[in-house]
Amino acid sequence: MVEAHRTFVIVGGGLAGAKAAETLRAEGFTGRVILICDERDHPYERPPLSKGYLLGKEERDSVFVHEPAWYAGADIELHLGQPAVRLDPEARTVRLGDGTLIVYDKLLLATGAEPRRLDVPGTGLAGVHHLRRLAHAERLRGVLASLGRDNGHLVIAGAGWIGLEVAAAARSYGAEVTVVETAPTPLHAALGPELGDLFGDLHREHGVRFHFGARLTEIVGQDGMVLAVRTDDGEEHPAHAVLAAIGAAPRASLAEQAGLALVDRYDGGGIAVDATLRTSDPHIYAAGDVAAADHPALGTRIRVEHWANALNGGPAAARAMLGQEVTYDRVPYFFSDQYDVGMEYSGYAPPGSYDQVVCRGDVAKREFIAFWLREGRLLAGMNVNVWDVTAPIQQLIRSGHPLDATALADPEVPLESLLP
Ligand SMILES: Cc1cc2nc3c(=O)[nH]c(=O)nc-3n(C[C@H](O)[C@H](O)[C@H](O)COP(=O)(O)OP(=O)(O)OC[C@H]3O[C@@H](n4cnc5c(N)ncnc54)[C@H](O)[C@@H]3O)c2cc1C
Repeated sequence: MVEAHRTFVIVGGGLAGAKAAETLRAEGFTGRVILICDERDHPYERPPLSKGYLLGKEERDSVFVHEPAWYAGADIELHLGQPAVRLDPEARTVRLGDGTLIVYDKLLLATGAEPRRLDVPGTGLAGVHHLRRLAHAERLRGVLASLGRDNGHLVIAGAGWIGLEVAAAARSYGAEVTVVETAPTPLHAALGPELGDLFGDLHREHGVRFHFGARLTEIVGQDGMVLAVRTDDGEEHPAHAVLAAIGAAPRASLAEQAGLALVDRYDGGGIAVDATLRTSDPHIYAAGDVAAADHPALGTRIRVEHWANALNGGPAAARAMLGQEVTYDRVPYFFSDQYDVGMEYSGYAPPGSYDQVVCRGDVAKREFIAFWLREGRLLAGMNVNVWDVTAPIQQLIRSGHPLDATALADPEVPLESLLP
């Protein structure tokens, strides 16, 4: 078929979807590109929603992937404010909420993830918040400012990245902050117990209170307003607002309804894709937060909920849709900023996967690199207030080369010199 007559549809207008559309055009695709998103805003990036934008340091306009006019210029047909409600792989059609039926040649699912909800009494109260969308951040920004003015209390359920970044933002507004977390340290699932508490100390120094090993069981309210939260160990914390930051679930219902292969939720969930980001249907691809991809370099299937994976996965899927040879094997990468501490993490080392943690630099001053190893091989590295080391860290991970822990810990030994 002549390419100009082909229609490529992208469901989901986040970073992965927008970058896929951009790549289709950059690679010279002349057919129709249709981008469908249930949000009314043009595609935007989410990291500022818990950092610069939430802190009031970045303007609303700065979060968008492209200016609105860019889409018309690139001849990308936008259906904003429209959910895709039904996908029929046999007929190769997708139906929108307003009834529109679109026939596709190839389709990309870039439907992202959504915040997990607290399943406790009181979640319907006006002061209970989530943070995923621009509208959530707009609202939360106002809430933090008024809590700061009135000496109000914010309780955050969950000491993951988003919970901690919002804690930092809330403190900068002057709000009182308590974080309730079931695990014994912050960021336990991401960094393990060895490094997680480093972020605990950082937040304590800024006046954040933690309540670890406890589950939030009730949000107490009066006249529709939040008054306090209760935890399963019988404690009560005052609260004027609550943020549920207990993780995100992949938005895979469209794929599920279409009969595509999914990953069990206990294995991380998401749409199962191969290393070319193709689903179990040869005409449908998936990328970004929703995709659980076979990772050739890590030798496992992995679903990555981070910015860089959307930034690179969307374009990789677009190239695969165009029939190019693609192996998506990027080393997972993410970053975070809290107060004056910036960090980058490369690799994959969940608790239980590593047998050694080595640090180089000054941990007490929060200027160091942490390395997670298994049998002397590097699984992951995190640089904290140390910059321009991502490339050698990722090369060391990729090499699978056994490393000398003493050399790794020595700041005088250039990381590059440890490469085989
Ligand atoms: C507050 C916040 C802060 C973050 N900070 C960082 C950070 O500092 N560093 C980092 O590495 N990562 C960070 N992340 C993670 C990063 O933003 C995500 O990994 C990234 O947004 C994933 O992009 P995506 O395009 O896959 O999905 P999304 O950004 O979720 O976009 C998917 C879009 O598809 C839409 N959609 C879903 N289903 C349908 C449907 N059926 N029909 C139509 N549209 C649909 C959704 O509404 C959404 O607009 C952060 C995330 C959040 C929420």
